[in-house]
Amino acid sequence: GGRLQGLKEIVGDTEATFRNVVESLQEVVMCCDADGYIIYGNPATERVAGASWENFAGKRIYEFFHPADPKKLNELKNRQHKRYAERLGGESESYELEVEGKDGETRWLSVSASPLRDPDGEIVGSIGVCTDTSERRELQQQLHWSQKMEAVGRLAGGVAHDFNNLLTVIRGYAHMMLKDFDHKQLHYRRLQAICEASDSACHLTQQLLTLSKRAVFQPKIVDLREVVEDSLGLIEGLVGSDIEVEFERLEALPSVEVDENQIQQILLNLAINARDAIQKSGRVSISASPQYVNKSLATRIGGVSQGEYVVLRLKDTGSGIPADVMEHLFEPFFTTKSHGTGLGLSTVYGIARNHAGGVFVDSEVGKGTTISVYLPVTEITEVELESSPLPFSASGRETILIVEDEKEVRLLLVEIFQEAGYRVAEAGDGLEALGCLKREADDINLVLSDVSMPNLDGIGLLEAMRQDFPNLPIMLMSGCVSEGDVSGKGMTLDFIAKPFSPPELLEKVRKKLDHFPLSQPKRKRANQ
Ligand code: ADP
Ligand code: MG
Repeated sequence: GGRLQGLKEIVGDTEATFRNVVESLQEVVMCCDADGYIIYGNPATERVAGASWENFAGKRIYEFFHPADPKKLNELKNRQHKRYAERLGGESESYELEVEGKDGETRWLSVSASPLRDPDGEIVGSIGVCTDTSERRELQQQLHWSQKMEAVGRLAGGVAHDFNNLLTVIRGYAHMMLKDFDHKQLHYRRLQAICEASDSACHLTQQLLTLSKRAVFQPKIVDLREVVEDSLGLIEGLVGSDIEVEFERLEALPSVEVDENQIQQILLNLAINARDAIQKSGRVSISASPQYVNKSLATRIGGVSQGEYVVLRLKDTGSGIPADVMEHLFEPFFTTKSHGTGLGLSTVYGIARNHAGGVFVDSEVGKGTTISVYLPVTEITEVELESSPLPFSASGRETILIVEDEKEVRLLLVEIFQEAGYRVAEAGDGLEALGCLKREADDINLVLSDVSMPNLDGIGLLEAMRQDFPNLPIMLMSGCVSEGDVSGKGMTLDFIAKPFSPPELLEKVRKKLDHFPLSQPKRKRANQ
């Protein structure tokens, strides 16, 4: 009817009309004769074949679009013969086909094949319409992969969380018992072995939690030179013997407050990138030095505040970074490597920001790359630095309210504090704790609470206490926190990560108590 008439007016007479339509298609349209030789392919066929029409005209499909793998080729050949018989018998079919073009590209085609008939209705061959689904498949695979990674992360994080509670108990009692033995006794050495093994186990759970992004941020006041020195062996192993690693050690360095594991992560990520950028042999130079960051430098580093910083620098003699790569450097998943993840520099950047610092990159193609990580200097007094190796002397006579749903862990905590001279009250969740506070807030000096608990969790308790008992200090403890928990709630302030050893815990609590004068009224005065 009228429609076809219209089409004819636009593109010409009937033969040309259909030729035009078929040749404009994105989809591959291919015809074979009764013996299976290719007699027609539209322009889209050339794209999928990776070659021009003359190259595959008159060939069999499997002769041209064959996979490199001989086993797959054989399979394709057999299937093609079988399908051909079906086509000639009048059957249509849809299937997925993996082909490799002459350009070496592998593609996935979704094929819909039907018998080809002459004007009298006689079957004279086959016609196939194929869609290139390679890209869609790839996206599906990526989605599948990231879902898998997330599931693995969640599983690992869950296991690590339960393990943390168990390890807290093992580690806690082992440390407590250790101090009852003289170091010459046999049991002392045995207990020490338990302590060391549980310390290593804690290290493992921490790694699992980092993988699942549930790691607790554990800042400590450290000397960066020591963190670098502790990592040098690992770095040398990573870069291989053709790359020389040097560390420029200064006489002295201001202290910084950092999470050592995360700083080590920075060093390893940067070292791996340096290794990848160095063709055969070369050098990686690491340094840590103090630097004053003025206003203009502060903006260039990415909006950090002005002041004293310690700069951790890693310089390589590699290929350098071209301008178009530089633009995207810190984007997660941006990579120029065939097996890269694109997570190295984005993690470095994230960690630096986490420490109120920044990253600066200086690079020239052919001349190597220098990456500087700026970490703010922490003002500390001598006394604070020396107080760390003081175990168990952090005793006290105050009353601590212990809020923890895991009975075993709660019992351990009670014993730790009682042994150090404290008085304790107990609660199994946030609601119980609030009830206890309503009755005897004036007798309690500090609340130590787990984060994840039934009924009312640690965060809920903290918020309720800010309302009703604003002058009563609370410390939270947890083996893992979800991102939502930490954001904007200032949890790093009074936070202790499980598993902890009794001396660490007692010391944190002692410090916290010493910062809070005892005489303040703890209840909010009622408005009268
Ligand atoms: P990945 O290493 O997985 O590619 P990264 O986030 O670590 O991901 O790095 C992103 C990109 O930045 C790299 O693919 C590379 O092109 C470039 N790059 C990073 N570090 C260097 C370096 N030291 N020298 C040259 N190019 C680098
Ligand atoms: Mg990398």
